[in-house]
Amino acid sequence: MSSRILIRGGTVITMDPQLGNFRRGDVLVDDTKIAAVGPELDVTDAEVVDASDTVVMPGFVDTHRHMWEGILRNIGVDVPLEGDASYLAFILGTLAPAYRPDDVYAGNLVTAAGAINAGITTVLDWSHIQISPEHTDAAVRALQESGLRSVFAYGFPWFGDWNPSQPEWFQRAASTHFASKDQLVTLALAPPGPEFTPVETAQAHWELARSVDARITVHVGVGSFGQHGKVAELGRAGALGPDTTYIHCTTLSDEEVQMIVDTGGTVSLAVPVEMMMGHGMVPTQRFLDRGLAPSLSVDVETNVPADMFTQMQNAVSLQHALVFDRRLTGEANVPDAVTSRDVLRWATIEGARANGIDDRTGSLTPGKDADVILLRTDAVNVLPVNDPIGAVVMGMDTSNVDSVFVAGRALKRDGRLVGLDLARVSALAHESRDYVVSTSGFTPPEI
Ligand SMILES: [Zn+2]
Repeated sequence: MSSRILIRGGTVITMDPQLGNFRRGDVLVDDTKIAAVGPELDVTDAEVVDASDTVVMPGFVDTHRHMWEGILRNIGVDVPLEGDASYLAFILGTLAPAYRPDDVYAGNLVTAAGAINAGITTVLDWSHIQISPEHTDAAVRALQESGLRSVFAYGFPWFGDWNPSQPEWFQRAASTHFASKDQLVTLALAPPGPEFTPVETAQAHWELARSVDARITVHVGVGSFGQHGKVAELGRAGALGPDTTYIHCTTLSDEEVQMIVDTGGTVSLAVPVEMMMGHGMVPTQRFLDRGLAPSLSVDVETNVPADMFTQMQNAVSLQHALVFDRRLTGEANVPDAVTSRDVLRWATIEGARANGIDDRTGSLTPGKDADVILLRTDAVNVLPVNDPIGAVVMGMDTSNVDSVFVAGRALKRDGRLVGLDLARVSALAHESRDYVVSTSGFTPPEI
């Protein structure tokens, strides 16, 4: 017998242009799927969730986060990407080598808990900590236990020598954990990409992903690493395709940006990271000018906030700053400032598209999986709500997240996480943090 939930009487923002939005509407969930959306649905055999004084919308989608770093939250807020005292030196060079499988598990679990709490229902876990198959199993287990929808993007460690077993370990992960595509956790490959390996190696990694029908997610245009035309080289070799998501793209040439658009690629911008850490200017407008809307991603909790409200606010504010500045300098034909509606799409349906799962999430479309969040509109930070979309984007934060459902399963209700033992998650996070920091020899910042 399937269970039915009627989410009743909320302001429904579907992110489905055919369906539109409802000032007051209902969402019917049948088992794992959205069965119907509309005003005053005539349903009598469902458990009722009172959605009055809430916005009901699809859960947020994060298209790139290094979830294993969850135990290192805010440890490097003031360090940039590159240099002697940097994210690359400290996090990837010093702390990552100390990780045991249990530490990856703890990092993934605490990151997942934070994501769910913030109304994020899908995260692509960019997991470049696959030191052994046991590390892989631990990462995947945490994702599965969390209840979050996720894409496990298998990534090679960025320290030490290349381990020739890696392609085999990736294939093992594919057959062990991802034999079925119809599950909450799906697979991608997260190769270092052409800026960090020879172009021929990058090509081999693209072929490796495609050999198991996995999508590819890659950092490109990364600070000074992105200034050498490597994406163009990979493009000329014929590797770029619609199965690839390009992260940052901050220092790519116009030719490379155009290649990504022309080959049907998707884009993940980590706006706070790119602004804070020296990746280069956020290329939002360069993609919009070519008709490609970006998705958004948190990237590293070592440095930046971990919720999609901050992501949206940063993305829209920066785009506005840049276009209004161009107008003030007298430039003609300046592009439009993006709207709150645009940026809400980037944080939901465009994220689902970049993760290759827009057939099952990213909008409240009947037939899709029921990844639904309820955001409180009677909270003191947004009342009285005059423009629900504007309120979600500019007025709200994680404290407004009342309820979170993933594939119809409640993971947060009445403002509290359900189904996760937070005391256990906290103990594991502290234990692993203490182990990794002390073993690595890294000294956290003074206060
Ligand atoms: Zn990243």
